[in-house]
Amino acid sequence: MVFGRGQVELKTREQVLVMRRAGLVVADIHVAVRESARPGMTTADLDGVARGVIEAAGATSNFLGYHGFPATICTSVNDEVIHGIPGPRVLRAGDVVSVDAGAVVDGWHGDAATTFVLGAHGALAPGAPEADPADDALVRATEAAMWAGIAALAQRGRLNDVGRAVEMALEVAGSAAGRTFGIVEEYVGHGIGTAMHQEPDVHNYATARRGPALKTGMCLAIEPMVTRGSGATRELADGWTVVTTDGSRSAHWEHSVAILDEGITVLTAPDAGAARLGELGVDVVRLD
Ligand code: MG
Repeated sequence: MVFGRGQVELKTREQVLVMRRAGLVVADIHVAVRESARPGMTTADLDGVARGVIEAAGATSNFLGYHGFPATICTSVNDEVIHGIPGPRVLRAGDVVSVDAGAVVDGWHGDAATTFVLGAHGALAPGAPEADPADDALVRATEAAMWAGIAALAQRGRLNDVGRAVEMALEVAGSAAGRTFGIVEEYVGHGIGTAMHQEPDVHNYATARRGPALKTGMCLAIEPMVTRGSGATRELADGWTVVTTDGSRSAHWEHSVAILDEGITVLTAPDAGAARLGELGVDVVRLD
């Protein structure tokens, strides 16, 4: 569908099916990177793992060369929030590692991010006793906030419902854990389709405007970025890496989601989001 300034690209079901193929490549990248991550590896090593998955799938990278970005994934460690450039940095046990990855299949984009705490022998599962409790709480709260934002799409209200749900989920998780979290407000989720970043912006907090109505054919990347501190950020001199101004650790979770006539489907989750959205009372559409 042709769209102009201020309008949202609506996808046909056939186009969403191609986006699902891209989404599954992105899911494979995340599995491979998570399974291979070890202390002593560099972030460039993780980038190589991702590159291999994309090449094996016959897909292409949407990150590589994006406004000059020099790698296949973003690796953002500890106080780095997003857009970290893979390089010689050596990973250590106890690091909080965020990986943002994307892929393109037949011109259609997928985009997703995960965060894990690195243990002595690899990525730790949520709740692992080896993880610093504050880091574990941050990672889990950020993921929960992402799922809450995704679940809000199923109600087919307004776009702002997503940000409100993300904000509320972080408050609930914070009070349950006896902690407060900061929402990064300078960066947002986005529409996705024939390009990685499309309208509309998806805020991770409730805004004064309700935003556009959520409707069939919209594809959105929901991606809360959350810190153990204030949520204020700055960009490093490399022109990419975004870090917290207070040095607090940060997590980032993201999935690309499609709204279909009969419900929502998470394009970048192997199970289409069934497990986590089921816990929130949302049935997902299975495309495969
Ligand atoms: Mg994104």
